Amino acid sequence: MFRNLKAVGRILYGRNSFDQLGDVLDELRIEKDSYILFLVDEYFDGNDFLNRIPVKPQDILKIIDITDEPKTKTVDQIVAEVKSLRTSLPVSVVGIGGGSVMDYAKAIRLMFTNEGSSALYQGLDFIKNKGVHCTLVPTISGTGAEVSMTTVLSGPEKKLGIKGNFTTADQLVMDPELIRTVPDPHRFYTAMDCYIHNIEAFNGHRKTVMGDSLGTESLRLCREIFLGEDSRTPENDEKLMVASFLGGLSLTYSEVGACHAISYGLATVTGIHHGVGNCIVFNQLEEFYPEAVKEFRTMMAKNNIVLPTGVTAGCTSEEIEKMIDVTLTLVFMWAHVSGPEWQKVITRDKLRGLLSKM
Ligand code: NAD
Ligand code: ZN
Repeated sequence: MFRNLKAVGRILYGRNSFDQLGDVLDELRIEKDSYILFLVDEYFDGNDFLNRIPVKPQDILKIIDITDEPKTKTVDQIVAEVKSLRTSLPVSVVGIGGGSVMDYAKAIRLMFTNEGSSALYQGLDFIKNKGVHCTLVPTISGTGAEVSMTTVLSGPEKKLGIKGNFTTADQLVMDPELIRTVPDPHRFYTAMDCYIHNIEAFNGHRKTVMGDSLGTESLRLCREIFLGEDSRTPENDEKLMVASFLGGLSLTYSEVGACHAISYGLATVTGIHHGVGNCIVFNQLEEFYPEAVKEFRTMMAKNNIVLPTGVTAGCTSEEIEKMIDVTLTLVFMWAHVSGPEWQKVITRDKLRGLLSKM
């Protein structure tokens, strides 16, 4: 059976295209009491950029704390708060930020029209009703969250996406100027999420010509940016934004692999963020991706990135076993990496050995 996939509805793309966001949203403001819910990354709090957001008096703008990665509890709280303030639903939920804020926007728009806690919907195709319109404006690039059909949330029991066709956004605004201020190493770590998506999508049993073609171009852009002389030029910001978009799309037609499976386990126990967590894990995966790990290390050296070490050193053996438990639940990823018989090669011992090196 093939999935009948839904892509992002409309894409506004180009340097300073953000200035047209107001016009795009005005098309949705049909009723007199139509309002927009803006969710904005905390980096922009108190920043001049806030004045460029086309907020009207009836709109709601919330600055989003992303100290921790998105939580089902916060999604539920924001939905409840907005519902208590208004009698109608917003005509769009606009997420302005990185993977964290975009995932909040994608989840919140769904929970306006689906009953109960967002934790009930973690997994594939549990969402019953179409959400309200959703607009995404990435301000840091790499995750591919801007195009993907999932919103990754940490719930009381698990870190897992609400995945399905209803999750994909309706409108995307890709303005490369917005990512210029992202400092390193954040920029590098999030960009490597894209690099790793491409490497993992290629190297596995679920790869497809569609995924490969999108991923090949995304990978070419990553190499141009991070193996060149200066990764921090405006041209490279634009390439990075496009690489993230293509890498995210490539995954729709393939699957992530060993790095994401292990990194999810690591994140569940240590709370380490996705970008840096992936880099720490990927650095130890020569066995799975030998050439790419070498290339990744060259990119790190060229960009003066020094990875955190000893991340698992302080963990108890129970915590390590919990990481392994979570990692082994990601059966689709492992089947992509090692085929249907993956359980024969991906053993607890192997995972314990890898985790101990991180
Ligand atoms: P992020 O959204 O957590 O942001 C990282 C840091 O960059 C934050 O400190 C933020 O304040 C700052 N920042 C954002 N824009 C900035 C700007 N223009 N200038 C300066 N600083 C800026 O980082 P991320 O790596 O984009 O997202 C990680 C999240 O994405 C994780 O929660 C992960 O699970 C999720 N994710 C989702 C998908 C998906 O398909 N939905 C895929 C991969 C990862
Ligand atoms: Zn990722």
